[in-house]
Amino acid sequence: MRFDGHRYVDCRWCGGRGCLQCENEANKAYQRVFPDGPKPIATFKTDDPADMERMRSIFGADALKKTFGPEGGGMAEIHEKLRGPTSEPTSQATSSKEHYNG
Ligand SMILES: [Zn+2]
Repeated sequence: MRFDGHRYVDCRWCGGRGCLQCENEANKAYQRVFPDGPKPIATFKTDDPADMERMRSIFGADALKKTFGPEGGGMAEIHEKLRGPTSEPTSQATSSKEHYNG
């Protein structure tokens, strides 16, 4: 959100110089982008060790370093991992777990 509490840079009234409509305009823009409020891109059960392990495998420091490193797939890779093995159309053996330790 490009709103620092006083000025909203896309304000159609002042163009970001700051006015009484800034907050209103920022709220309207927010409503357009997030009509139902922001949604989580992923949820994990904290009482489920397997789920927590899955979270670490995607969002752990090493995993993120790899994902956003030179060889990584970035956000596309994250989305792919979050989709998981269940809804993959070209799923091969789902029982084989792949581990990247290199
Ligand atoms: Zn304004």
